[in-house]
Amino acid sequence: LERTFSIVKPDAVERNLIGAIYHRVESAGMRIVAAKMLRLTKEQAEGFYAEHQGKPFFEKLVNFMMSGPIMVQVLEGENAIARYRELMGKTNPEEAACGTLRADYAVNYTFNSVHGSDSPESAAREISYFFAAEELC
Ligand code: ATP
Ligand code: MG
Repeated sequence: LERTFSIVKPDAVERNLIGAIYHRVESAGMRIVAAKMLRLTKEQAEGFYAEHQGKPFFEKLVNFMMSGPIMVQVLEGENAIARYRELMGKTNPEEAACGTLRADYAVNYTFNSVHGSDSPESAAREISYFFAAEELC
């Protein structure tokens, strides 16, 4: 079984979509093995998205991610990294396939409701960025 890291972003928490998104994850056969609500500092948001530093959307992205509470989760399942990326749909909701989380819930390219790790390396980095070993079931 593989583990991936996911975020319910501020736009989705604000619109009471935590339960709907958790339901979709569980219905897709993935298990939530750790979860918590938190609010990112500027340093945490910048560090989390460090790979995008210098890109035109970076400041908007960081401000958005700090704008309200988020839920962070570790998901477990067969091929969880790729399967959760598929469940999310493309980054731009206008390009996301019907029935994906972003097609159904995202507001726009930046306010796109969910995050998921894109590789085993980022999953490991992102899980340890938010969770201590003793917080993982
Ligand atoms: P995430 O990392 O949040 O799961 P992703 O891997 O699909 O999303 P990335 O390329 O890593 O996409 O971009 C990180 C986030 O930055 C996106 O989810 C989106 O909120 C924002 N973003 C990326 N590209 C753009 C863009 N061209 N315009 C506006 N916002 C963008
Ligand atoms: Mg990404």
